[in-house]
Amino acid sequence: MTIHKSKGLDFPVVLMPRLTADEWEPGSRTYDTFESALSEGPESVFDKDLVAQDANEARRILHVGITRAEEILVLHVSREKNDTDDERPVHDAVESIFPESVPWRPSNGHLPIWRDLQECLPSNHADWTASLASTVVGDVSGQVTYGSENLSASDGRDRVITFGNKLIEGSIEREPENRRFSIDALTGPMTPNPALQHSYTSLEAYEECPRQHFLDYVVNGFSDYRENGYGGDGISQRIVGLLFHDTAEIAAKEQAAERAEWYAICERLAGQRRATYELPVAKECIDRYFDLDLSGWEIVDAEREFQLEVDGHELVGFIDAVYRTPDGELVVIDYKATERHRDIDENKQLPLYLLASRDLYEEPITRAGYAYVGDIGPKVEARSFDEGELDSVRAAVSTTMDQIKETSFSRYETGEHCRWCQHSSLPCGEEWRQEDGGR
Ligand code: SF4
Repeated sequence: MTIHKSKGLDFPVVLMPRLTADEWEPGSRTYDTFESALSEGPESVFDKDLVAQDANEARRILHVGITRAEEILVLHVSREKNDTDDERPVHDAVESIFPESVPWRPSNGHLPIWRDLQECLPSNHADWTASLASTVVGDVSGQVTYGSENLSASDGRDRVITFGNKLIEGSIEREPENRRFSIDALTGPMTPNPALQHSYTSLEAYEECPRQHFLDYVVNGFSDYRENGYGGDGISQRIVGLLFHDTAEIAAKEQAAERAEWYAICERLAGQRRATYELPVAKECIDRYFDLDLSGWEIVDAEREFQLEVDGHELVGFIDAVYRTPDGELVVIDYKATERHRDIDENKQLPLYLLASRDLYEEPITRAGYAYVGDIGPKVEARSFDEGELDSVRAAVSTTMDQIKETSFSRYETGEHCRWCQHSSLPCGEEWRQEDGGR
């Protein structure tokens, strides 16, 4: 992912590789700076310090990259060009690990910006270079079953490299039939134990199917391959949802209350994320939103982050919006841009948000609901929750968080939820289709 494309997104771990002159030295950026200076008239070029301007632009881009990291930021840099010592530890290490068949190579360069960066680090910053470079966490082992073949881990790796090379050459050919991977290593005990962070969606995934939770929230498994990248229409519902949610958040902060203003924000975000296919669908969500009464209510808060302590566990999340109704009552609203309907009487999300809201707002909130802006909308379903309901949800969530330590790939539960699972090409997905009478 390019740094420009990552703007507006956050990730738990960010790796910034190749902080070298090859990537950062003045090049096309200088031309861009020159061109924009020219647009203000030929004299203006002589009034500007283009080198300083370019350096500032490089720093600005670097800043965007660095601030994408929520928890861990890994910066990788090689030595600078004017170093007399031609020893290149990172370069040599990578060269020795990469098989000859890999067609790309690390390059050595210099990066003045790296020196700036080091000078800005606080004196007590942690430098894990030595331990990261010498420690191998875990073990790459197990067997990969590809079709009817059993491959060792290294044969599996070679297959992947061959596949990558064919992709680069454009010589990949479609297999005549679907193939399935089943990786034995995933079914063994995990060492070290994974660090789990609980959110409502991760708890819901666990309760529906521990395998789905394991893949999505423990090992960050890849989603199924889909034709055209996503669905058959090339549209990612996830990106549509993000576009709508981010538009609603920005609109609340900018106090944009008109449909045209929401459109403009959405178009801007879609442009930054190159979400061409998703933009019209996100705009349909905006249209449905403006068909709802709540679009005329006062918005009190948006995308509010919370941390809720439940019996020694921490649950994190975001409340999409808090509105004040014309009667003066506050109501917590969660936007749903998908086609999946939620049972307002049974699920735990809304009560959890009400519990979290106690630490965030001075005014008590007892009412919460869903605003459906996807295909099954437009509609709002909301209700009040009493103290007894909130207590029983808190107890149930505590039990789930205790159980979740037992998360595992081996355990799974098929059901209606498989319809929305990102891994339904697994054999368990096939089981669900058979139970469901085919889809
Ligand atoms: S397809 Fe169904 S059973 Fe399989 S991991 Fe997904 S949710 Fe679980």
